[in-house]
Amino acid sequence: MANLMITKQCNLHCSYCFANEFVNKDRDIMSFENFMTCLKFLSHDPTERIGLIGGEPTLHPELHRMLETIIDSPFRSACLFTNGILVDRFINELRDSRFQILVNLNAPDKVGQPVYDKIIDNLDLMIDHSYMKRQVGVGINLHRPDMDYSYLLDAVRRFHLTRVRVSVSVPNMEEERKIEPLRYFHEMEGLVRNLVKDLVSLGAAPNFDCNYLPSCLFTEEDRKYYEEHKDVLCRSNLQQNPICVPSIDILPNLQVVRCFGMSEICKADLSDFRNTEELKRYFMLELDAPAYQILPDAACASCREYRAGLCSCGCYAYRAAELRKLRRSLKQGREIMESGI
Ligand code: SF4
Ligand code: SF4
Repeated sequence: MANLMITKQCNLHCSYCFANEFVNKDRDIMSFENFMTCLKFLSHDPTERIGLIGGEPTLHPELHRMLETIIDSPFRSACLFTNGILVDRFINELRDSRFQILVNLNAPDKVGQPVYDKIIDNLDLMIDHSYMKRQVGVGINLHRPDMDYSYLLDAVRRFHLTRVRVSVSVPNMEEERKIEPLRYFHEMEGLVRNLVKDLVSLGAAPNFDCNYLPSCLFTEEDRKYYEEHKDVLCRSNLQQNPICVPSIDILPNLQVVRCFGMSEICKADLSDFRNTEELKRYFMLELDAPAYQILPDAACASCREYRAGLCSCGCYAYRAAELRKLRRSLKQGREIMESGI
């Protein structure tokens, strides 16, 4: 999947937004010409899934035209990542079965009750009135250990959702990223455990976004619970290897970042690559390989999963400061080698 950041503007200001290097910093939008360049770049593999992201993509003045272009293209699937406030304006195009719509649901006390009601009305419009249930998903960002997610459960009940995307938010400020990831996960684990159980009791499987929970967090009791509820949890990625891979986010100006968590460390130009595989290889070498060498916690050194290359121990962005230093010394080493000294 490659994500196209079609606008940096957003009509919300979520405290946890990890695209905060860009969002609402300026009013840049992706031109239609750059959008077509992206589609051409991705067209080497029409099975590639396109993500339309922002900011808030429904604020792009040419989104109707972009959606119609995707409908007329050979691409088989595209996902609109939205806060759901304005999604009703695009219902005619989004009805096309190749689109998926992922609504990131924020709490009513964060967005205000009237805005929240509008989002629920839009879910109602898509799921109950437009027969788009199979296309529509809902997600939540877990950003505080004490957050109240009861509004999400109400939505799961109301729309009979069978899956929910769950993001354990990556701390988005440089200062907060100095936290040890295992400590952060330990702070969040009670919330995650309760949410998983509440979702399972409603028949909904949690699907985790990046910043996967490391397996050392799971207790014997958790594993027993997962086994007992595998009828629902077989649809979840809860127990997959928690290894982070490049997501590929293309900015409005056709610069590319590995993901928003790592955007400040390294950017590439789309025009220097032939396809997404090349981009992924580039970021793996530039970022993933050195980041994996930086141990975020002493406990990981002797862990079998780490040694087997199966756990990235939370988001690499926690290691941003050390990663910058390591990249600088690797670069100096390369320059010395090249100069033959
Ligand atoms: S590598 Fe570290 S974070 Fe991952 S499972 Fe092992 S101890 Fe936990
Ligand atoms: S480094 Fe991995 S976990 Fe962190 S933001 Fe990027 S994709 Fe997500």
